[in-house]
Amino acid sequence: MSYNYLFKVVAIGDSGVGKTSLITRYVDDTFVPKAIPTIGVDFKLKDVMIDDKIVRLQIWDTAGQERYRMQLSSSIYKNANAFILVFDLTSKKSIKELEYYFGEIQNNCDEDSLIIVVGNKCDLPDQVENVQEEIDSIFKEQVQNFSKTSAKDGTNVKNIFEMIAEKLKERK
Ligand code: GDP
Ligand code: MG
Repeated sequence: MSYNYLFKVVAIGDSGVGKTSLITRYVDDTFVPKAIPTIGVDFKLKDVMIDDKIVRLQIWDTAGQERYRMQLSSSIYKNANAFILVFDLTSKKSIKELEYYFGEIQNNCDEDSLIIVVGNKCDLPDQVENVQEEIDSIFKEQVQNFSKTSAKDGTNVKNIFEMIAEKLKERK
């Protein structure tokens, strides 16, 4: 099937925050409690209909390339239209790490790439205090949106990907 728009969307964030689970929830609508971590670059396709147009999202996962393991390869950043910066609402460390990933995006990408911050695992008790303040202090005005999600029960997962598709299409 053909499409009208193609956008590259990249999920980044610490190992274990739920990047693969979010993508799997969105694309396949399933949740695998003990997902096997894959190594390397991987992407999935999902088509979204917006105003009679087909917007194809090419969603890149960054398994095995998190901080301290190796630098994200430049192919991940190349021509990316949007980033989903994922942290884990049950991990204070994972929100601190967002600063590192944001720096990587700034060093490797166009200024106009869309950045969405996602606090995942909202089905569990939240351990991060003053989330919005922390995010504001890391990103200033450069983050267009922050949402809490659960790959497990599906909360907000479809919303964030569709919002990205809409925003990117609007810019064209
Ligand atoms: P990744 O390393 O960022 O790709 O993280 P994974 O998707 O592999 O998820 C890491 C672990 O967190 C797995 O055991 C998942 O089942 C679990 N997980 C992911 N998302 C959620 C969520 O929304 N809620 C809960 N309770 N667990 C989750
Ligand atoms: Mg993964």
